[in-house]
Amino acid sequence: MPEVIPVCYCGNLAKLNTSWSNDNPGMRFFRCKKFGNRFRKPCQFFSWFDPPLTPHSRIVLLGLLKKVRTLEGARKRERRTWLLVLVIVTVLLFLKA
Ligand SMILES: [Zn+2]
Repeated sequence: MPEVIPVCYCGNLAKLNTSWSNDNPGMRFFRCKKFGNRFRKPCQFFSWFDPPLTPHSRIVLLGLLKKVRTLEGARKRERRTWLLVLVIVTVLLFLKA
């Protein structure tokens, strides 16, 4: 955890978040909890916590992120397939009864 938490423009303590975008994978940043358009009076406070990534670190992180996303996609497809099999087996069992 950071030793100093910045105070944002609206007077709240900024919240530490982690970016998982392709441009800034794993980079932590401070942002107001009222950041964004969904608030009536949004606060635009934003500040990076981590120093910029080295080009090598960025390549390694992006490669790992790609693997994670690929595996998550495969797991979702597998789960859907098993659910479909379960539904088909249940229907077949009901038809036989
Ligand atoms: Zn704020």
